[in-house]
Amino acid sequence: MSKTPSRPALPTRLLGQLQSRQPFLWLNPGLGDALPETGIGLAEVDAAQARLARCAGLLGSLFPELAVSRGAIESALLRTANLQRAMSSVAACDGVWFVKADHALPVAGSIKARGGFHEVLALAESIALREGLIGADDDRLPLASAEARALFARYKVAVGSTGNLGMSIGLMAAALGFRAEVHMSSDAREWKKTRLRRHGVTVVEHDGDYAAAVAAGREQALADPHGYFVDDEHSPLLFAGYAVAARGLAAQLAAAGRIVDADHPLFVYLPCGVGGAPGGITFGLKALFGDHVHCFFAEPVASPCMLVQLAAGCEQPVSVYDVGLDNRTEADGLAVGQASPLVSPLMAAQLSGVFTVSDQQLYISLFRLAQSEGIALEPSAAAGVPGPNWLTASAAGHDYLGRHGLERVLHNATHVIWTTGGSLVPRQELQRFQAEGLRLCAKRPQSEYFP
Ligand SMILES: *Cc1c(COP(=O)(O)O)cnc(C)c1O
Repeated sequence: MSKTPSRPALPTRLLGQLQSRQPFLWLNPGLGDALPETGIGLAEVDAAQARLARCAGLLGSLFPELAVSRGAIESALLRTANLQRAMSSVAACDGVWFVKADHALPVAGSIKARGGFHEVLALAESIALREGLIGADDDRLPLASAEARALFARYKVAVGSTGNLGMSIGLMAAALGFRAEVHMSSDAREWKKTRLRRHGVTVVEHDGDYAAAVAAGREQALADPHGYFVDDEHSPLLFAGYAVAARGLAAQLAAAGRIVDADHPLFVYLPCGVGGAPGGITFGLKALFGDHVHCFFAEPVASPCMLVQLAAGCEQPVSVYDVGLDNRTEADGLAVGQASPLVSPLMAAQLSGVFTVSDQQLYISLFRLAQSEGIALEPSAAAGVPGPNWLTASAAGHDYLGRHGLERVLHNATHVIWTTGGSLVPRQELQRFQAEGLRLCAKRPQSEYFP
């Protein structure tokens, strides 16, 4: 996409760290700045929460997997003491580790469920309202009627994706009767394409990277008078849907007896691709907990798009290609060269920092998680696992803790590692991931891979 003609002005030392492809923790100097005016606020998050709530009956009727939760799209918050014991580089005096299990979100199998479902539901509602099929305050169950399906069949819903967003949008759109079209980059996994096709979704493959798939999808959808394009790089509806997750987490923390305040900090570690999902969640958490929550993104060493955008400190788009990286990683869900221009200005003021992860760390992390907790993930979804160690056992982490006066209260901390995808991955693929993790663990001591 839009590559800048000249190299961005990143400090030489940072450029060197990026180009070495060695994992490191970068602290965001803009944390705490005033939020820019983007048109996204809490009103949009409230609206998304209300929409998902009034569509719960509809969701429960469309998907048997959602019947148990009565249509709520929620994942468990798991206390992961065994993982903490297996991974933590310091004796357990640095707080308590949890996993937020979005890898197991029903139907979509990833963190993309909330945002993706929300945007398709918003489209379906607006068409049905316009056609008089429902009233503003009615229950949304009629959106599953034969009449609604016939109406939606006139529309095409398209999206560009490395895989998981396509799954979320494609499955929801097809379930409602829309013509669904998913544009995939060449790094998208074969099984994701197969699963979508089995559910009646049209999959269009593109040679280039994620941005190329998005651009092609956007162009084709806009050429269709009944086309609707879900724009992962610019969508406020996706963002607001993702942000709703923050309220679910807050309720789960309270239920687990975890306080969040000045003496009980909350640290959240989120894998980042284009930035929509982790950005929405960060935005939602900051609104609830302010300075008491500290959000860190995890990005592959080859694809740290949010890191370079924030470090460049400008509005002009900067990509990982601009700093000499190739965006090639086993973390297909995070293989994004350029951060969302909607989300990055918000994160410039709200994000604590970004740590990068090597592919080897991803495999070791998913192996450790499976061994210690029986949780199976795809590589992208394990990117947050090194987070607590970066904070508590690296020089940059200590710098952060010191600057914010947190060393004194670290023993009260809650660490939430957001696991973002994997429950739909075929067993054979999962076994291949585990074998790779085992191979790497056997080869070298863990200390060589983690701070
Ligand atoms: C998409 C995705 C992410 C990150 O979400 P973005 O909105 O692209 O930043 C993280 N993990 C997995 C498994 C994903 O599919």
